[in-house]
Amino acid sequence: MCCSKLLKNKENYLACPDQSCGFVHFNNPIPVVAGIVLMHPGIVIVQRKFGPHVGEWCLPCGYVEHKRHPPDEVIREIKEEAGIDARVTLDIGTINPNPGKGNQIITFYLCEYVQGGLHAGSDALAVMQCTTPDMVPKLCFSSHDKILRDWWNVIDWA
Ligand SMILES: [Zn+2]
Repeated sequence: MCCSKLLKNKENYLACPDQSCGFVHFNNPIPVVAGIVLMHPGIVIVQRKFGPHVGEWCLPCGYVEHKRHPPDEVIREIKEEAGIDARVTLDIGTINPNPGKGNQIITFYLCEYVQGGLHAGSDALAVMQCTTPDMVPKLCFSSHDKILRDWWNVIDWA
């Protein structure tokens, strides 16, 4: 890790002026995963225990940790927040939720319940199983809100 004062390089990135170091701060986006968890006859949302948006509701989600595989990370987050074991059934896609502003990309997964009793895990205040779109409160992240409402009618509820 570089200890020098960084200066803008030719490509306009902050970089170490020491040629032997070569560090460039690319400021790549931070990967996040989130899951639409199908738990018949509904989907699972969680009330946030940690900031930002403490006390508000969202899909189970979190940062991809060092050296981890994104689909495994969404399963870990579902366990930590909703207390249940789930599995990924579909990689929905990856978006930048705040183009030009934030520096995250989110990969959304469709997941399905496997086993365990639904309860607020270590990383949530509460958890809720919503059986209709009307039951879902306004989610604190607009990207979660949009993808859940887009996907509600696409989910195979059989
Ligand atoms: Zn350096």
